[in-house]
Amino acid sequence: MADVLVVGGGPAGRALAAAVAARGLCTTLVDPRPTRPWRAIYGMWAADLPADLPPHVVAARAKGRAITTTTHDLGWDYAALDVGAFRAHLDAALDAGGVQVVAGRVARAADDAVALDDGTVLRAAVVVDAGGRWRPLAGRPGRPGRLPAEQTAFGLVLDEERAAPLVRPDEALFMDWRPDHGERGWPTFLYGIPLGAGRVLLEETSLARRPGLPLPVLRRRLLARLEHHDVRPPGHAVPDRVHFPVDQPPHPGTAFGAAAPLVHPATGFSLADALRLAPAVADALAAHLPAAPDAARAAVHRLLWPPAARAVHRLRTIGLEAMLRMPPPEVPAFFAVFFDLPEHHRWAYLTRRADLAGHAAAMAALYARSGWRLRARLVGPALRPALGRNTEEQAC
Ligand SMILES: Cc1cc2nc3c(=O)[nH]c(=O)nc-3n(C[C@H](O)[C@H](O)[C@H](O)COP(=O)(O)OP(=O)(O)OC[C@H]3O[C@@H](n4cnc5c(N)ncnc54)[C@H](O)[C@@H]3O)c2cc1C
Repeated sequence: MADVLVVGGGPAGRALAAAVAARGLCTTLVDPRPTRPWRAIYGMWAADLPADLPPHVVAARAKGRAITTTTHDLGWDYAALDVGAFRAHLDAALDAGGVQVVAGRVARAADDAVALDDGTVLRAAVVVDAGGRWRPLAGRPGRPGRLPAEQTAFGLVLDEERAAPLVRPDEALFMDWRPDHGERGWPTFLYGIPLGAGRVLLEETSLARRPGLPLPVLRRRLLARLEHHDVRPPGHAVPDRVHFPVDQPPHPGTAFGAAAPLVHPATGFSLADALRLAPAVADALAAHLPAAPDAARAAVHRLLWPPAARAVHRLRTIGLEAMLRMPPPEVPAFFAVFFDLPEHHRWAYLTRRADLAGHAAAMAALYARSGWRLRARLVGPALRPALGRNTEEQAC
């Protein structure tokens, strides 16, 4: 019987399990394939990097830039992680804390036990769902009767000389909304970030759509965009495929990472928050375990979802719904207004999940700088039910 059982060995689950074990609690981590290398390419704003992340885990840093109807210098650096080194760093922390790592898929769960699909039962005072978008402890993923809004993207890793017409080696192109893919319909942008070692990720991205824009559409657009800029990807270019929901409902149990959901509904980011919050969640658990599991669960919930964080999540969800309903030709102009906001407003909206005053101020500033039509697009979704689905005509 462990003190804490973490279900899911992604970045959030590993960071949490390591932090819990470092506080002297007996910790188990379970994942269907715990030794499988990660394939995702992870990045975050440099100012959001955890202070204890060793420098070699950061593969590249570059100045953030966005292109909407004009070009914006974002004023912050963006960091791409060396995913292998990041994983090795988290695994070393699991080893150092003596975390027991179990290979298995959780099939059923209660507050203090899980059954794996081979019938093995694992018990712990507290079980935490860090199962990402699958949320194995939530009963069923998603919202009954509603399609998820999903972020999807298709990217290729190229060498920096080839990518130079789109991304300079010292710049991280957070968003490029120019319609250089040549297609009408659902708006997609290019995300282009240096990965270090002379490599650059170029990724055609649909920020959110209900349901997600299919990956073949994104691949087609990426190739057309590259051709437009005379960029020829080699046949062996490594692909990157992204597909995850951004509007999961609140988790009914104790959850962490994307399962919680810590995902920003309007950007899809969750990694920086998960890494920043893991030590605090571990502190909350250690303050009550092993004696008082109910108090430990309640403390985790209070820490992750104070009223301000719940209100911010609601505001960001309204932002998501506004994007889902926005007519495609108006999207770049909307982001132009957003990226022209003073830096502290943009920073609050993009990164501060419990800063309600910061969000209210950012949204008020956005509203004040918008024309009447955009104002209606921003306010309308707060008064209407969530959009059922985006239409096919918007897609292609
Ligand atoms: C390709 C890609 C790139 C992304 N890039 C970024 C980025 O740059 N920055 C950012 O902030 N966000 C990014 N995201 C979004 C998000 O941060 C990631 O999805 C991140 O991996 C979430 O971490 P997590 O640990 O919460 O969940 P996951 O990484 O999804 O890990 C969940 C784990 O749970 C395991 N699991 C699932 N079901 C079960 C079960 N029944 N029993 C046991 N284990 C189970 C899975 O095998 C998996 O290992 C990206 C997402 C994708 C898909």
